Amino acid sequence: MLIREVVANHYTIPLPVALSDSTHGTIKGFELITARVRDAEGAEGTGYTYTVGAGGAAVHALVARDLAPFLVGRHADLIESHWQAMWWALHYGGRGGAQALAMSAVDIALWDLRARRQGAPLWRVLGGFDPRVPCYAGGIDLDFSLDALLRQTDENLARGFRAIKMKVGRPSLRDDVERVGAMRRHLGPDFPLMVDANMRWSVDEAIRAARSLAELAPVWLEEPTIPDDVPGHARIVREGGLPVAAGENLHTLYEFRQLIAAGGVTFPEPDVTSCGGVTAFMKICHLRRPSTCR
Ligand SMILES: [Mg+2]
Repeated sequence: MLIREVVANHYTIPLPVALSDSTHGTIKGFELITARVRDAEGAEGTGYTYTVGAGGAAVHALVARDLAPFLVGRHADLIESHWQAMWWALHYGGRGGAQALAMSAVDIALWDLRARRQGAPLWRVLGGFDPRVPCYAGGIDLDFSLDALLRQTDENLARGFRAIKMKVGRPSLRDDVERVGAMRRHLGPDFPLMVDANMRWSVDEAIRAARSLAELAPVWLEEPTIPDDVPGHARIVREGGLPVAAGENLHTLYEFRQLIAAGGVTFPEPDVTSCGGVTAFMKICHLRRPSTCR
């Protein structure tokens, strides 16, 4: 079935309450960029990506001006072939960033179209293992007062969440430890609690923070330092004493491969909307650490 058209849209989604974390400043809204792929029979698949407030126009332009004309007239089901062709068409100014976000939106739309044409949910189209996925409530709550943090937590518990993630990375590590301690006491010793530093710390600061937080038993410490420092991540895993989650700011399969191979991440976190779409996401999910890293 040939692709008849690819339509890109760019939205601004204002947040009811401005949010903040340790690196992105105040987030007043998200940008949503959608790609809708229609085939010659009128079947449609939708994909999307997002930003935390800037750069969306470039992503939209890549979809509308480069990827849409490239895909029209091609067979919709040759998704792997299109992924490789899109990667190389945008390679010189790409290999991550806006290119990865644009490709993600288009690739998700192609997979959505395939699943809709098959009349099956995507998890079955991808091979089928288990439709149930454990999920957590992730607050963007670094600047919340402790009262507001605990109130948000109670609301999430009432909504049925059985795991919660909170932000760390305040100017004072003692402040972080006190807030995580208050959450641990509030939730009980065995409740799954994760902490997310949004790349705030140097490697030495992250190791110090991990050691300070270890007795509060977070499930993982997320994005302790910049995504570019692969050896630094490996040091934090080895010397910090906490499992490390990372990947929201990795945008290629190759970046994930390097970080995993180096032993720099315990819980890889590919975001399907920014790692290259479903095609790249599945390849990342199948990566394994070398047995020598254990
Ligand atoms: Mg995060």
